[in-house]
Amino acid sequence: MNPRNDSYAGNGSHAASYYAASANAAPERAELTGDHQIDVCIVGAGYTGLSTGLYLAEKGYKVAIIEGARVGWGASGRNGGQIVNGLNASLQTIKKRYGQDTATFVAGLVQEGGEIIRERISTYDIKCDLKEKNIFTGLTSAHMGELEERMKLWASYGLKNQEMLDKNQLREHVNSDLYAGGLIDHSGGHMHPLNLALGEAAAFEQNGGIIYEMSPVIDVDQAAVQPVIKTAKGTMTCKTLVLCGNAYLGHVVPTLTSRVMPVSTQVMATEPLGEARARELIPTDACVEDIRYILDYYRLSGDNRMLFGGGTVYGGADPSDIKAKLQRNMDKVFPQLKGVKIDYAWSGNFALSFSRVPQMGRIGGNTYFAHGYSGHGVTGAHTFGRILAEAIHGDLTRFDVFAKVPWYPFPGGRMLRIPYSVMGSWWYGVRDKIGI
Ligand SMILES: Cc1cc2nc3c(=O)[nH]c(=O)nc-3n(C[C@H](O)[C@H](O)[C@H](O)COP(=O)(O)OP(=O)(O)OC[C@H]3O[C@@H](n4cnc5c(N)ncnc54)[C@H](O)[C@@H]3O)c2cc1C
Repeated sequence: MNPRNDSYAGNGSHAASYYAASANAAPERAELTGDHQIDVCIVGAGYTGLSTGLYLAEKGYKVAIIEGARVGWGASGRNGGQIVNGLNASLQTIKKRYGQDTATFVAGLVQEGGEIIRERISTYDIKCDLKEKNIFTGLTSAHMGELEERMKLWASYGLKNQEMLDKNQLREHVNSDLYAGGLIDHSGGHMHPLNLALGEAAAFEQNGGIIYEMSPVIDVDQAAVQPVIKTAKGTMTCKTLVLCGNAYLGHVVPTLTSRVMPVSTQVMATEPLGEARARELIPTDACVEDIRYILDYYRLSGDNRMLFGGGTVYGGADPSDIKAKLQRNMDKVFPQLKGVKIDYAWSGNFALSFSRVPQMGRIGGNTYFAHGYSGHGVTGAHTFGRILAEAIHGDLTRFDVFAKVPWYPFPGGRMLRIPYSVMGSWWYGVRDKIGI
């Protein structure tokens, strides 16, 4: 096991991913030096920070984003690229824990993130290989029951873009023997995540936003009426501060540290397979994830590679041999790909909250934050960014609903939360294996 990948290694260049190797051209932005003042300062140029920043810049706010490495360096530039509607926690769980009103509220926004992404791509002409549809697969009849229940529940909230697929129907989408069937969401999709982030950053700058790169924030005074952030070479004083560092914020803001835990997950990219071979594997080019607790997620890239992800490491460490770990899983799904060359393999951290429900709130008078999408944040981060921007613009309606959702600390506190969660994860892994 390698050390946690939560620091800005060396020169802060991107993880050695397929995405970094195929990124659209982007400028390198200057570091923050000297003392500055601005309306809104955002820490973190991932989807949460970029979404908040872009909405505010479009409304005419003067906004600066301070990024410790490069735009999209965190989870947003290296994820599975899957535009999956909904949160990690199901609507059923949300209803059970937080009541009907919260479940109805969440149901009302689960498709919003995908809509925001498509709107951004279209308005700003972002080239990021957008493709449509996502599929959840089930390996057992119990999984199929779960999927059916999920579909009915969504339909009861008016979300009707989903359809069950039996084993044969699933074959038309995913050419694998492993599954009992699946559920297709026609409003899901997938894209090149780093190019989406780079396109959103360019859009933010077109609207007058300023981005500083290679500027890790080392201190935050969130209690001041005008919050101040400090980097090695500069400070930024602002009317409103927004913390969007998610799993990579580390210990910079102690009150946020215990709310989430960094968890790493890995992705690898095969060599280009060619159109015909790629389409034999996923004929309709949807992205796919199974519904196990420790799941596989995969899709075809714009240049017909298989991008295959999975696994989790609590605490955010990198496995020592990512390719070997993922190749075993890929062989089970697609034995047709045995022996295929793997060109890239990488790891990244997402922020897990104990309830699996993302969190949003305010600390100090004028400091906001959002984080904890628990592995399903491509859409969530975009929606939460918009809700943060609404709040800063004076409409607190949706912010207040989320800010009131209680959060729970991980059992064991800072010292024991990782071992306890590993035990929990081990138990769910056993459940996955024996199919209960
Ligand atoms: C490998 C992987 C696969 C995933 N696959 C999917 C998927 O297919 N679908 C899905 O829905 N979700 C997926 N996720 C989750 C999703 O990518 C995240 O939930 C989402 O990108 C979070 O966005 P964010 O902006 O909140 O955080 P991030 O993208 O992590 O951005 C945080 C940024 O803040 C910066 N930062 C942190 N601390 C500081 C500091 N002190 N000073 C300055 N800057 C700082 C970081 O450098 C980083 O750029 C995946 C995550 C990973 C890691």
